[in-house]
Amino acid sequence: MNESNASYVARDLAHVWHPCTQMKDHEHLPLVPIRRGRGVWLEDFAGRRYLDAVSSWWVNLFGHANPRINAAIAAQLEELEHVILAGFTHEPVIALSEALVKVAPAGLTRCFYADNGSSAVEVAAKMSFHYWRNLGRTAKRRFISLANSYHGETLGALALGDVELYKATYQPLLMDVRVVGSPDCFERAPGATWAEHSTLKFALMEAALARHHEETAAVIVEPLVQCAGSMRMYDPVYLSLLRQACDRYEVHLIADEVAVGFGRTGTLFACEQAAIRPDLLCLSKGLTGGYLPLSVVMTTDAVYAAFYDEYVKMNAFLHSHSYTGNALACAAARASLAIFDADGVLAKNRTLAAHMGARAHALADHAHVAEVRQRGMIVAIELVKDKATREPYPWQERRGLRVYRHSLARGVLLRPIGNVVYFMPPYVITPEEIDLMVTVAEEGIEKATCD
Ligand code: PMP
Repeated sequence: MNESNASYVARDLAHVWHPCTQMKDHEHLPLVPIRRGRGVWLEDFAGRRYLDAVSSWWVNLFGHANPRINAAIAAQLEELEHVILAGFTHEPVIALSEALVKVAPAGLTRCFYADNGSSAVEVAAKMSFHYWRNLGRTAKRRFISLANSYHGETLGALALGDVELYKATYQPLLMDVRVVGSPDCFERAPGATWAEHSTLKFALMEAALARHHEETAAVIVEPLVQCAGSMRMYDPVYLSLLRQACDRYEVHLIADEVAVGFGRTGTLFACEQAAIRPDLLCLSKGLTGGYLPLSVVMTTDAVYAAFYDEYVKMNAFLHSHSYTGNALACAAARASLAIFDADGVLAKNRTLAAHMGARAHALADHAHVAEVRQRGMIVAIELVKDKATREPYPWQERRGLRVYRHSLARGVLLRPIGNVVYFMPPYVITPEEIDLMVTVAEEGIEKATCD
């Protein structure tokens, strides 16, 4: 590592406590200081480049330093950086809300802003509970979520999720959430289709709703892909069945599209593939094209109306965050959203996704690959110790970390989740860059599984 990289690392490690990291790992695992980003490429202080195959934690859509988004933020900066959103408003938040209502599933007409995905989930859960309370249905105070789901790290969002690694330690602090079996198609029986498996698994949800609907405010799901839960995927039919059941049982459906929203699954929103409208839709990450922290919960006029009352009735939703609806973030979001139409992004992504899938599927025959799965612009490769029995590698062996190390050395940022290697690149990636990304993953997988 050259001098300037090394000095940044030393200064960093003296004070910065990194997210989702055992800091002791950095005694042997190099920290990578990034000087600049252009398109899919990140560059360190020695001029080494890394292809950002994970979109910087699934946020970046149109590349780093995108000229159009840069210009929108710069223009907004000349006018207004931020203003309190209670009692005041501004053009970027108005225009963004109009634009979101146009593209979201029909009927989601109200936008409530926060500044990260976890906060959006907190907003949605509180809003659902409070909606029923305003209607006098005070028994509806519990939530149902799916096994292996992930909804964020704040205490409410963590309680709603089910990834043991993040949740177990904090269990004593968490509200009690009902977790039902996931429609995850990795677990389908041999020969069963995704639709058959997801339909079969819906029986668990149906039973939970039949039994507990009177005390349930909402069901929360990550539509189609459980991203932090190792990119496990399921069939859209599950969402259709869930929508029908939620209507039947008078329970809200919260769609957490924080990770899958904005084109990741092939459609602008994953819910579109089941032609459903959730009661509450959580968006963040790609909302600003990966530039600035912003999130939004979109909901219906019916939900909104339950809070609309005389002040003294105390029915208002008195939730706030200081940076709610930040003007710079809204300007970035508008610019990012505009690129979808201007560049025909979803159509182009179909070609890129087909290429990425075709290249990655070559790995399906590998002796330690149990499955290569894909939904739109997300491809995941599940490594196992034993292909026949699907026995996983013990987590302590950290096989995914070996892939990470190899890919860094080869100039690609892959960040496997446990034993699952995945690609979720920015949409400006080229077919040649996809080839490089997959080749490096192949090499890394070979290295990580050779003993
Ligand atoms: N929901 C889902 C589905 C997510 O994937 C994430 C983040 N990975 C969150 C919520 C939390 O978002 P944030 O990290 O911005 O709090």
